[in-house]
This record gives sequence, C-alpha cells and structure tokens, in this order.
Amino acid sequence: MSPDPAMPNALVATSRADVVELAAASTDLAGLDARLIECRACPRLVAWREEVATVKRRAFADQPYWGRPVPGFGAERPRVLVLGLAPAAHGANRTGRNFTGDRSGDWLYAAMFRAGLANQPTSVSADDGLQLLDARVLAAVRCAPPENKPTPQERDNCRGWLVRELDLCWPSTRAVVVLGGFGWAALWPALRAARVAVPAPTPRFAHGAAVELADGRLVLGSYHVSQQNTFTGRLTEPMLDAVFGRAVRWAGE
Ligand code: SF4
Repeated sequence: MSPDPAMPNALVATSRADVVELAAASTDLAGLDARLIECRACPRLVAWREEVATVKRRAFADQPYWGRPVPGFGAERPRVLVLGLAPAAHGANRTGRNFTGDRSGDWLYAAMFRAGLANQPTSVSADDGLQLLDARVLAAVRCAPPENKPTPQERDNCRGWLVRELDLCWPSTRAVVVLGGFGWAALWPALRAARVAVPAPTPRFAHGAAVELADGRLVLGSYHVSQQNTFTGRLTEPMLDAVFGRAVRWAGE
C-alpha cells in the first residue's frame, strides 16, 4: 500500500491484498468508492486506462476523461443489482459512470427505463440527470481493459471491491441481473466470499438462466448488452425486457 498524494491520510491499493484490506475496512458505499477510485493494483489496467484518457478518441478530444476505476452507480439500498464486465474505454472510462456514453449503455438504460428501474432511457454523461430507481449497476472489474478482456489475475485482484459492495448492498437486494458470462463467473466466488450461500457446482451461464439462492435472492443471466450481441440480433429488446421484467417482479414480491 502507498500513501495517496492527494489525501495524505488515505492509502492506495497497489496489490490484491491491499484491495481486500481497504474494501473490508469500508463501512459504507461512499467510503468504498473513495478507496476504489484510487486503486492501482493492476499495472496493465492502470497504464491502459490512463493512456486512453490521455490519447482520447477524436470525437471526444475536447472532453476530460475520467481515466480511473469506476464505482457502482445507483441506489444505496438497491432491490435490483446489475452486474456487468468492466468499463468501456471511451464509455465509462471517459464519463466516470458505468455504461454511460456508449451504445451498450443506450441499450441497458433504455431497458431499465422500460422496466421502471430508471427515470430516463438515456445515459450520456455523469450529469445528465439519470437516476436509478431501487437499482444499482456495478462491474466485475472496475478499470477499462484492453479489448474488453481483463485477465483472470485482474478479475481476481478486483474481487475485493465487488465482495464488499455486494456485502453492503445485500440486505436490500432481491434480484441480481448478470450481463454476460464473465460477470456470471465472477459473481459466484464473490458471493461466497461475502458469506452468501451459493449452489455447487457453479450454475452454468445462459441467457434466461435463473438461480434462486437459499436466502431467497434470485440471480438471472442475460447476454451482455455489447454491440457484438445487440447488432447481431443475438440479444433483442424483448429478450432483455423479459429478464428485467422477471427481476422486477421478484424484487416486488
Ligand atoms: S481493475 Fe480493480 S483491482 Fe485492478 S486497478 Fe482497477 S480497481 Fe484496482
């Protein structure tokens, strides 16, 4: 761990053990976010997120980039959690808010709006007025990875943040919507580490997969809202609406 030059009394995570320690020491989401956004535990991802934020895409050349780990976004006591993969280089890594400023976010928040989980269907910037209603959106890995592919080591480095966020949100959570197989695989060990009883062996990912946990929570799988799926028709709006509809019904019971 190293001191944070901007906050002399704060410490910056520079290893997986640091992440676990600092996340576990966070007693609320604000404290967790404050530690998370300083994290430098994955050298490859730190270099990438900062390079992207410096070089920028031409269309966004006049905009400041966030270029740091992206915290969870939404309600502090969510009934529905949404778990994605990682920030997009020119989406959340630019705007600082999950699924904001890219096509994936257009799909996700439009679906959450239709499901009654968001106050508007669009998500273009961190100050666009979007509010999630009883919902929170997180990522399994909090820094933008090259080609959207974190390594297993990077996924495991970041697990401590996810575990603590799940821990803090679990009392109110009723349903979890997982976008894609990467998030699905990351969720189960994180839940186990958060002392949630999960089935063994690990349930297989599929679009529409539904797993009721022993504590009554429901975990739902959906294909990821990436353009690879939405442009090709592998994931359609009715398919996504069916998953969110089920989550909302479960959360309301
Ligand atoms: S991916 Fe997670 S653990 Fe790695 S540097 Fe980013 S916030 Fe830290």
